[in-house]
Amino acid sequence: MKNKLIIANWKSNPIKRNDGEKLLKNLVQTIKTNNKVIICPPTIFLSHFLNLFSPYFQFGVQNCYSKDKGPYTGEISPKMVQDIGCKYVIIGHSERRSLFNETDEDINLKLIEILNTTKITPILCIGESREERAQKKTYSIIKQQIKSDLKNVDKNKIKNIIIAYEPIWAIGTGIYAHEQEIVDAKNSIVKILCDIYGDIGRKIRIVYGGSVNAQNIESILKNADMNGVLVGGASLKPKEFSFIANFK
Ligand code: PEP
Repeated sequence: MKNKLIIANWKSNPIKRNDGEKLLKNLVQTIKTNNKVIICPPTIFLSHFLNLFSPYFQFGVQNCYSKDKGPYTGEISPKMVQDIGCKYVIIGHSERRSLFNETDEDINLKLIEILNTTKITPILCIGESREERAQKKTYSIIKQQIKSDLKNVDKNKIKNIIIAYEPIWAIGTGIYAHEQEIVDAKNSIVKILCDIYGDIGRKIRIVYGGSVNAQNIESILKNADMNGVLVGGASLKPKEFSFIANFK
């Protein structure tokens, strides 16, 4: 099995920087792996964690804006993210789409800014809702998201993107996609990417996210052979996250 990407999305947790520091100290002791472990904590704690833990982990942010600087109160730009030493940014997470009304157009502008102005790797989240799956619309939803989110993205830059297949019904629910559903989604994503970009489409890394835990990691990384996982809830549990990160 090739080395995998293990991405932790801490979302808006923990409240205290000190608790995040304790969690990372614990992970330094328990994670021994060739997998690439990427931690995405709350942005306000990032500089502190980068200073202490960059020899052990890569770091990313959970969002950024589509402009490099200017009068955009509260926003951070891809160049700022790069300047503090982050190498990854999650874009288009379903919580941002649903809670903050982010559209495919917003996501597209962010991706273009990231890819045109920095060397940061975007982790683009896509996936269907429960209703869309029930109506057998998974393929068309994924296709529409990929087409709109990647519109006008330079073919030469496409290889730098990671796609996270995150079915909305599996996020934070404890219900996860089964092996065959993940393989089907992966094959669909590869086909859609190859239709747009040719063979480069096969080189794009695809990870799975949605209630990943110590019990299902084998079926996702080994059986479904995904390039990695995006982990929410379980990334805040040191024992469980170490088990996931150390999987080989
Ligand atoms: C996520 O937020 O991207 C996620 C996959 O969450 P969870 O693992 O808790 O389902």
